[in-house]
Amino acid sequence: MTRSRVLVTGGAGYIGSETVRLLLEEGHEVVVFDDLSTGHRKAVPEAASFIRGRISDTPLMIEALAGVDAVFHFAANIEVAESVTDPKPFWWNNFVGTLTLLDAMVKAEVFQLVFSSTAAVYGNPPSDLVTEKMPLQPVNPYGESKLSAETLIADYCTAYGLCATSLRYFNAAGAAVGGKHGADHAHKTHLVTLCLEAAARRLPCLTIFGTDYPTPDGTCVRDYIHVADLARAHLAALSAFERGVQGSFNLGNGKGHSVREVVECVQKVTGVDFPVKEVARRPGDPAYLVASSGKALDLLGWKPCFPSLEQIVHDAWEWVRTHPKGYGSDI
Ligand code: UDP
Repeated sequence: MTRSRVLVTGGAGYIGSETVRLLLEEGHEVVVFDDLSTGHRKAVPEAASFIRGRISDTPLMIEALAGVDAVFHFAANIEVAESVTDPKPFWWNNFVGTLTLLDAMVKAEVFQLVFSSTAAVYGNPPSDLVTEKMPLQPVNPYGESKLSAETLIADYCTAYGLCATSLRYFNAAGAAVGGKHGADHAHKTHLVTLCLEAAARRLPCLTIFGTDYPTPDGTCVRDYIHVADLARAHLAALSAFERGVQGSFNLGNGKGHSVREVVECVQKVTGVDFPVKEVARRPGDPAYLVASSGKALDLLGWKPCFPSLEQIVHDAWEWVRTHPKGYGSDI
């Protein structure tokens, strides 16, 4: 692959920083652009340049884009439930923020973009295995904001010569293989993370949101994908631009696990039989989301290397166990 200079928005965050490490390992130059609202300076390797700023700060972004070949755009608000109760920052950051980034890219003549999108663009898909051809009908403002950003990106591709790939992540989980880096969100909402908090005895119990879904055990089913595999997909998307490949791609393992199965897996891997409480459904949650990633395999040559839920949980547990305070500072 050609060596590139890549600007990574949200590069101090969970998936962004994992991708930064892989870019550096593969010999690329990296500029991290992050406002540290949720990311951590310590998550950014020293070999990457770092700019603290908001993506809507156009003059700063244009300056940062000098000499850049491609942008990986991770910076976003990501919590589904919060998007229902407080959609405003989701529209500002995920939609308007992407618009200002695209304008800055066009002005700076940077024409390659890999965008972090989400399975939430599908809402409640009509089939068990979700392909990219399925209707795009988000059921929460988070998914709406990401889908609108995808539409915007597609229009910029048609009109202004941008090359872009949107990667629709299913449920990102795990930590760097071996657990040296991982998720450190001040506000923890994701299932695997909360199960591990319960296993570490930092939460009194794990709460299951909804046991009356139309799924085999009544709890929601998701496709959990290792963060290291998501990072690899970004590099695959970048090199695929050289072959003229762009578009939208699902990233998952093609295998679903219910909330109860995740709880059992975390209890097994950690050896901690933490208590579980069952409550009503959480607003905005679709019942069943599992990816068909055949298109990514065919066109990007991407295939998960770490598909097992046990491995995903094991790496995340290593991170949580060895870093009880995460990155250990407010930022
Ligand atoms: N979930 C749960 N208890 C929790 C957190 C999540 O039962 O404490 C459920 C949630 O309702 C959803 C699934 O776990 O069905 C995955 O949720 P998560 O927030 O991890 O990811 P999402 O699919 O919402 O992006």
